Amino acid sequence: MIYLDHNATTPVSPQVLQAMMPFFQERFGNASSFCRIGRIARTALEEARASVAACIHASPDEIVFTGSGTEADNLALRGVCRAFHGRKRHVVTSAIEHHAVLKTCEDLEEQGIAVTRLPVDCRGMVDPDQVKNSLTPHTVLISIMAANNETGVIQPIASISRIARSRGILFHTDAVQAFGKIPVSVDDLGIDLMTLSAHKIYGPKGIGALYVRKGSAMAPILTGGSHERGKRAGTENIAAIAGFAQAAELAEKHLAEEAVRLAALRDAFEKEVVQRIARARVNGRDAPRVPNTSSLSFASVDGESVLLHLDLKGICASTGSACATGSPEPSHVMRAMGLSPMDAQSTIRFSLGRDTSQGDLDFTVGVLADAISKLRHISSTA
Ligand SMILES: *Cc1c(COP(=O)(O)O)cnc(C)c1O
Repeated sequence: MIYLDHNATTPVSPQVLQAMMPFFQERFGNASSFCRIGRIARTALEEARASVAACIHASPDEIVFTGSGTEADNLALRGVCRAFHGRKRHVVTSAIEHHAVLKTCEDLEEQGIAVTRLPVDCRGMVDPDQVKNSLTPHTVLISIMAANNETGVIQPIASISRIARSRGILFHTDAVQAFGKIPVSVDDLGIDLMTLSAHKIYGPKGIGALYVRKGSAMAPILTGGSHERGKRAGTENIAAIAGFAQAAELAEKHLAEEAVRLAALRDAFEKEVVQRIARARVNGRDAPRVPNTSSLSFASVDGESVLLHLDLKGICASTGSACATGSPEPSHVMRAMGLSPMDAQSTIRFSLGRDTSQGDLDFTVGVLADAISKLRHISSTA
């Protein structure tokens, strides 16, 4: 199999699995319990917290482990809105956010919160001036993702956070697709809340984290025990947390060299595709992008049909976000970038990773060119 869907999920790396294993059996303790085995778990938990914090230049007590990236997004949006007890009832976000943010905003609207969804330009970027113009005295939170999961386009986070800070508004960013691919320092970028997820960086599924800057108002959404300093109740999943920390350390250690390697592979792949396939275009080509992501539109073909052809040859790619697969709706990200529904429907995302080789991509270009010419031929003779 040639796996080119790393933005959907990644395999757990061998070192990560090794770091997790002891916590399923001999170190099974509850981090809240006082006996020795509990203290061992507590120590592992706090070491992992320090590791994840170091990767984003935060302090350990600013990290809240959650059950997923989705939960961290929910906690940021709902938790901040709740902390203001409805005294401030306006949230600013963008039209290209992950569903974990967009659907949560829809739910907040039903609870009486006003939501502004900013458009993006044809490159897929939010304009900081539009953020500034959208703010009101009631704005409680700005939530703009760091890098988009479908296009890899990097948003102007530092400019947006400066605007937020100058107005005393909290700034949240979903950095699930940026973390481990580009440096994300919460201080350099002026971030108040930031979402991370382990399974996009060769860690296990079902574990995420929310960075919460000291002093930021945020109420919990899960209540129960006093885990995670009262910000997220529930016995900590030490195995997953230890795996997350190991994955974060490895991503950080290899970030610079992997970024160069993947960007070179991706750029050569895109060049080849555009040369060999008529009317192929690269979405977000003129914007800064994370190095592993290539979003391609082909005109006059159905993306799902192309995926089927690729799958038959053992190539795994996607039409965009994994969560939207199977839904007939064209991607909200492509639509926001100005693509017609037809062009949006012809879009395929290739997301490269640690195991991707030049040979994989050479083979993929051939299969892709073949599939598209066949499909176009069928539709032109139909
Ligand atoms: C994958 C993803 C999420 C969700 O993370 P889970 O851990 O799968 O819940 C949120 N935001 C972005 C941008 C993602 O790519």
